[in-house]
Amino acid sequence: LEIQLIQAQKMEAIGRLVGTIAHDFNNVLQAIIGYSQLLLSKINKNDPRWNYVYQINTISNEAANLVKQLLLFSRKQPIETIPVNINQVIDNMKEMIVRIIGENIECKFSLDRKLREVEADITQIEQIIMNLITNAKEAMPGGGRLIVETKNLKIDKAFASMRGIEPGDYVMLGVADTGKGMDEKIKQHCFEPFFTTKKDGTGLGLSTVYGIVNRMKGCVRVYSELYKGTIIKIYLPQAKTAVLSSAKPEITDISPGG
Ligand code: ADP
Ligand code: MG
Repeated sequence: LEIQLIQAQKMEAIGRLVGTIAHDFNNVLQAIIGYSQLLLSKINKNDPRWNYVYQINTISNEAANLVKQLLLFSRKQPIETIPVNINQVIDNMKEMIVRIIGENIECKFSLDRKLREVEADITQIEQIIMNLITNAKEAMPGGGRLIVETKNLKIDKAFASMRGIEPGDYVMLGVADTGKGMDEKIKQHCFEPFFTTKKDGTGLGLSTVYGIVNRMKGCVRVYSELYKGTIIKIYLPQAKTAVLSSAKPEITDISPGG
């Protein structure tokens, strides 16, 4: 628990620093995007300079997306929480998930049709799912299997105190892959901001997830075995006004391409 606290404080400090930089940087980027957009509209498309400006516009948009991630990570973005059914969020993202995951990864959804709601910002839930799925894909360059699971769960005192959360009713969101897995060292550091083992990783995926889940008074667990795969499980407290979801019953297999 103490380690968790130190971790949280460390993230807090880095988060604030990153947030300040990201905020200023975002203003600069917005100006570049704006002016390059303006230039684009003034230059004839046949003009060889058009392409240069287009590149500037595209790349600064990419940079702005990264900054957006940084801002989200540092909680500088306003959040709007409402009772959210995670199944519905997943349903809305399914097409995109299957597209991101690609041809050689089998994709399975095992969603509890009686899943209760959590008090959340939908964008943040989407962010969590995106980050976990991106990681799963990147862990399976040679193909494999992805499972997205949800279920209601009661967390008792013992489990709760071990994880620094309150006992009670939770929703579990799990993302499992049959990818390369993590060794002990990676497992230890994977939630740290900017920790990455990838050539062009940002190291912000899991720390963002960690930050969001922590703020929602939930917790994250990693189960991973080298060369076998990884399961990331997220536990979020059920919304107090929780109602049964009207989502369709589902254990669906989505085969690639269909
Ligand atoms: P990034 O993906 O940019 O490297 P993340 O914060 O998303 O940053 O992940 C941090 C690190 O944790 C990754 O570089 C990788 O080593 C490890 N990791 C995360 N998810 C998985 C996974 N599903 N399988 C194997 N390793 C993972
Ligand atoms: Mg990632």
